[in-house]
Amino acid sequence: EQPRPGYKRIVFKPSGEALAGESGKGLDGETLDATASEIIDLRQNLGVDVAVVVGGGNFWRGRQGSMTGMDPTQSDHIGMLGTVMNALALQDALERQGQETRVQSAIEMPRIAEAYIRRRAVRHLEKGRVVIFAAGTGNPFFTTDTAAALRAAEIEAEVLIKGTHSGVDGVYSADPRTDDTATKYDEVSYMEVMTKDLKVMDATAIAFCRDNDIPIVVFDMSKPGSLRSIVQGGDEGTLVR
Ligand code: UDP
Repeated sequence: EQPRPGYKRIVFKPSGEALAGESGKGLDGETLDATASEIIDLRQNLGVDVAVVVGGGNFWRGRQGSMTGMDPTQSDHIGMLGTVMNALALQDALERQGQETRVQSAIEMPRIAEAYIRRRAVRHLEKGRVVIFAAGTGNPFFTTDTAAALRAAEIEAEVLIKGTHSGVDGVYSADPRTDDTATKYDEVSYMEVMTKDLKVMDATAIAFCRDNDIPIVVFDMSKPGSLRSIVQGGDEGTLVR
């Protein structure tokens, strides 16, 4: 195994729950502020270009609607709008702590956010702004994990860092909450993730990262400072490459 590199441009993907309180639902001021300050630390103290793709599971998941008979596309549209709410809340938390930001939405909403324009996003990063990508890919049947992978490829980020709130600090051979033979991977290949169906991201997102050579780090966000450590080449979580 090669030692882990440090990174100068990242896509950070906090799950929707990373912005919610204990219940995992809605938005929570303290959680938002804590997530914002970890992002700001990377930007202002380490000089890292940070683009954030926000999840939306704290408001709505597409499959939630389909279970009750809702049209799946309609349900996914609701899900994407949830990510816009998260983006605006995170933007507010970042700006209150003095960090300049821009929100770019994959679904045009000119009154509240810029449209996603790749060149413009890169320019914002170069100027030291944190860019928050909202509305996922803009398409139903996708996830914000896929959106994060896609944006990482587009802006030439060196890594996709996925913060979960599962209480599980990386990728395991089985679910460590129910299986005590489960062991944690420090590093694992895309292929192994796919063939063993390891819980990292959905299959579309993993395949995309493999095809475009985007490494992924998965970690648990409940321990403060983990994100900083990963960006500096520390061995938190699991590296998929
Ligand atoms: N979604 C979508 N297309 C996308 C990204 C997201 O339709 O490109 C919808 C989908 O319904 C999804 C919801 O938005 O369930 C919330 O995103 P996700 O489940 O990825 O959020 P997370 O699990 O990261 O909180």
